Amino acid sequence: MLKDLLQVWFPQCCLNCGNVLPKALQWLCLSCKSKLPRTYFEQGVTNPLERSLLEAFPITSAYAPYYFQQQSPIQPLIHALKYQGKKDVATWVAQQSTSFIPKTHPIYTCEAVIPVPLHAARERKRGYNQVKLFGQFLAKHLGIPYLDSVLYRKRQTKTLVQMSHEARWNEVKDAFEVRGKHCFTHILIVDDVITTGATLTACGHTLLKHVSKEISISGMAYTQDILP
Ligand SMILES: [Zn+2]
Repeated sequence: MLKDLLQVWFPQCCLNCGNVLPKALQWLCLSCKSKLPRTYFEQGVTNPLERSLLEAFPITSAYAPYYFQQQSPIQPLIHALKYQGKKDVATWVAQQSTSFIPKTHPIYTCEAVIPVPLHAARERKRGYNQVKLFGQFLAKHLGIPYLDSVLYRKRQTKTLVQMSHEARWNEVKDAFEVRGKHCFTHILIVDDVITTGATLTACGHTLLKHVSKEISISGMAYTQDILP
């Protein structure tokens, strides 16, 4: 009832085109949703994200439902999640993601979900880790635990965007550490937009050394010009 009234007083609008959304829809209208740049990574044997990451460290699988492209509806969606406090966008993307992934995908053999740790200062500023609800939805869907205290940043890293390949790797290679003793066969690392392979590679190496024999990766979106 209250929700209905709120809908009348404050109608939800499509994050991309601004049109008022019918009650059954969230974040994007049907037209904008259909324009999300799907990767279709669930269809191939190996995908470009896997091939790119495999150059840096052994992964079992890597998946993202969408490409991150400017001027496409994925951009306002991720922007709302990261900068406008709309953390439930992460759950929505996770729902879409699991609806695409077939039950035969290696992700279904994972035993725990571990998020890429956010910079503590950034998490304080934002008030939440934008990956959390994404990871928690996947964990619930897979029936496995979401473990966000296993992997942590032992020191803060600088932003990697402007750095060379080598500088980037030097910045993150020793930045992560593991708490406690763990012995998994296959774990899932979750991230938001997969842009720098350097951070994932550093997390992956740390987890392969101390936590799990195999690693898969799941992100909300993937930038094709991934920075190694
Ligand atoms: Zn729209």
